[in-house]
Amino acid sequence: MIDRRSFLLSAAALAACSRAVPNIPPDAKIMAITMDDFTQSFDVGLSLEDRNANILNAFDEVGHKAAGFVTGSFVKSDAGQKVVESWIARGHEISNHTWTHAHANETSTEVFLADIARNQDFLSGVPGTNAYFRFPFLDDGKDRAQQVALFEGLESMGLINAPVTIGTIDWYTTSRLEARLRDDPNTDLAPYRDYYVEMCVTLANYWENISKMQGYVSLPHLTLVHHNVLNGHFLKDVLLALKGDGWYFMDAKDALSTALYHDLPPNITNGRNWLTLQGNKRGLDLPDFPKKYWNTGRKTMDALGL
Ligand SMILES: [Zn+2]
Repeated sequence: MIDRRSFLLSAAALAACSRAVPNIPPDAKIMAITMDDFTQSFDVGLSLEDRNANILNAFDEVGHKAAGFVTGSFVKSDAGQKVVESWIARGHEISNHTWTHAHANETSTEVFLADIARNQDFLSGVPGTNAYFRFPFLDDGKDRAQQVALFEGLESMGLINAPVTIGTIDWYTTSRLEARLRDDPNTDLAPYRDYYVEMCVTLANYWENISKMQGYVSLPHLTLVHHNVLNGHFLKDVLLALKGDGWYFMDAKDALSTALYHDLPPNITNGRNWLTLQGNKRGLDLPDFPKKYWNTGRKTMDALGL
C-alpha cells in the first residue's frame, strides 16, 4: 500500500542514497551506525582505551565513517576527551546528546535546552563537531507543545534532530554482559557474541521490511548502538555479519543529511522508532517486533543462560 506521498518520499530517499553511495544495487539495504552516550563506567576485562580502539578498528574493517552522539558529562575526563578526539582524528562525526542525558518529559523545556546548549559549548572545543542532536531515551517531550518548543529550540541553536530507524537493544544486552563479567571476568564471551550478532541482523531486517512497507527504497537507516563493552568486544562481528547479509554502510554524515529525518515527527517520539511514528501516521498495521526480543530479550537471555 503505497500512497502518492510515500512514493515521493521514497524517490527523495533514493536520490539521497545514489549521491552518496555510488555503484550499489538500486534496492540495496543501507545503514549508517550512530553510537550514543560514551559511558566510561565499566572496564572489566577491556580498558576504555582498548574498547574504543576495537570500535574504531571495527568501523575501519568495513570502511565506515560513523557518528558518535556524545553526552558531555560522561566524557569530561582526560581519558574521555581523548576518546572523543580519536573519533574526529579517524574521520568520524561527533554530535550532541545533551550534557546530562536527562529525560525531556521529566524536565522543563528551558532546563532541557540549557542542557543541550551546555553540551554544545563543551563540544565546540572539539574541532569537527557537526550540527546533529539526538534526544536521550528518544524522548522529545511529554506532549506536542513541549516537543514543538524543543524543536524550535534546536533550530535556534543550529541543531538538527537525528532519529533512529534501527534500534538494537544493545543497552540491555551489555547490562547483562557487564553483570556476568563482574561475577566472572573470565566468562566465555562467545555465546554473548552469537546472541548479539544475530539480534542486530534480525532487527536490521525487521526495520528494513517496515521501511519497504511504507514505500521507502534504500532508506539510509540510522542504526543506534552505544559505546559500551559489548560493542568493544563484538562490533566488528556485527558489522561483518551485516555486510555478509547484504547491507551497505553509508557514511553517517550522508545518512544524517536525509531531509526526511529533519522534519518535526508526526507525534511525540516517546522512545519509539522513527519508522513506527511514520507507519502509525499512515495507519499501517505494522508487523510485531520479533518475539525473541520482547521485553528487551530478557526471557531469551535467561533461557540461554546469558
Ligand atoms: Zn543515550
